Amino acid sequence: MVRAKVLISCVGGLVEPNPWPQGIPGHETFTGDIFHSARWRYDIDLRDKNVVVIGSGCSAAQFVPELPTVYGAKKVTQVMRTPPWVVPKQEQPFGDSWGPWLNTHIPGFAHTLRLLVAAKAEYDWRLFGDSAWSKAHRRKNEAGLLEHMRRTVPEKYWEVLTPNYDVACKRRIFDATWFPSLKDARIDLTTKQLLKANPRSVTLGARTYPPSKTPGPDDAEKEIDADVIILGNGFQTTQWFHPLQVVGRNGHSLRDVFAQRGGPQMYMGPTMDAFPNFFTIFGPNTATGHTSVVLASENMVNYTIKLLKPILKGDATAVEVTESAERAWSKDIQDQLQNTVWHRGGCKSWYVDDGGWNSTVYPYSQVWFGLKCMFPKWSDYTYRYTTKGLVKKYLRMFAKIALLGILVVVVRGARRMGVHHLDAEGWKLILRQVVGRLLFSGGDRLKVLARGVVNGER
Ligand SMILES: Cc1cc2nc3c(=O)[nH]c(=O)nc-3n(C[C@H](O)[C@H](O)[C@H](O)COP(=O)(O)OP(=O)(O)OC[C@H]3O[C@@H](n4cnc5c(N)ncnc54)[C@H](O)[C@@H]3O)c2cc1C
Repeated sequence: MVRAKVLISCVGGLVEPNPWPQGIPGHETFTGDIFHSARWRYDIDLRDKNVVVIGSGCSAAQFVPELPTVYGAKKVTQVMRTPPWVVPKQEQPFGDSWGPWLNTHIPGFAHTLRLLVAAKAEYDWRLFGDSAWSKAHRRKNEAGLLEHMRRTVPEKYWEVLTPNYDVACKRRIFDATWFPSLKDARIDLTTKQLLKANPRSVTLGARTYPPSKTPGPDDAEKEIDADVIILGNGFQTTQWFHPLQVVGRNGHSLRDVFAQRGGPQMYMGPTMDAFPNFFTIFGPNTATGHTSVVLASENMVNYTIKLLKPILKGDATAVEVTESAERAWSKDIQDQLQNTVWHRGGCKSWYVDDGGWNSTVYPYSQVWFGLKCMFPKWSDYTYRYTTKGLVKKYLRMFAKIALLGILVVVVRGARRMGVHHLDAEGWKLILRQVVGRLLFSGGDRLKVLARGVVNGER
């Protein structure tokens, strides 16, 4: 057993791969290899193999183009249920040779560039709302993306690659290689339904997207040779901390508390009431659809360090968010999410679980989240102080009261001298004189000066 005063979870959100798709039989009789892209089997040689890929999300978009070119696969059949919105990937500014050089050798260049990239990403936040303005931006954005798709992929794919839901409802794919790779005759993208796996093949059925109005030749069953099946079917994103069992001071596990409160939730992402000194980086509702998870994680790291400071300095032994703050936070997040494209954009995504609870994304801008992390709302937390911490706390309190007292005395004294009757010219003169005297003469008594000014001695 390892004893620790503080526990910080950094187990990530896209870690546990989804298993073989439920309800599709035959994978146990398949004699080839099956693996998930997040558990890549480098020991399996894909050269001259028939590879079937299940899924068309961000992972598949990255590895499918490499299967024939880098791994030497003979034939790749990619099974897609619904098309993603695909955004042309931003090129590295100043190219692959100049970019890294400038970042390394020009002071401040990398920081400025990062700021510009973050600002550009932040601008995409406009796409996620439910207002007429956001919807208009989505339509404009979608038109541009469809144009890009038609320019990039063969015409036979135009229909299946036209999404029937709003852009940004599902995670967008930032792509530079998948669309161009669809020109490769060795890659076949299909929306026929995966019906079953056989010992050395898979059976595909009717077309799932777009659904056929009347059955046609595209809907006939088809057997596809398969030596290897690669699952690009995503991650278990709506459960948190699996397989970790985190138990709070009341003896309840986080999972129990999530179930009691309607779904996974944690205040600001890192903290939960009744779980003192437990923090998580990349907790529930901290990813965004428009900007980097890494940036959000950095914000949470800063926030956690601020909260931890009194403990690290030996001033406190425990910190815990209040239950009312946590509940209010979660209610606000869930309410706000109802008015976003994730819930109104006409798609089913991995952000939302089957019961409609969205524990994945943050409905506000990352700038706002960054500010909230920079300036924690201390009244939402309770600390258990050490004696040293208590002394410091009371000293700080005493100092504040003393400062307030001094301020009151000064204001009253100034009023008695009639300073409140001064006009702008009088204040300017006082300021000039004060600065002058402090700098050059070591400071005459202000009282005399103020009286002089009030009495018209300018
Ligand atoms: C294919 C893919 C592409 C992505 N692309 C982007 C992108 O372009 N931009 C972006 O912002 N985000 C992207 N993400 C999201 C990504 O999850 C985050 O950006 C980032 O990796 C999160 O960092 P993290 O440290 O929180 O978690 P991770 O990088 O997932 O790291 C978690 C670590 O914890 C370990 N771990 C888990 N459970 C335990 C345990 N019980 N005990 C010990 N160790 C454990 C894991 O093995 C892993 O090493 C992508 C994710 C995937 C899967």
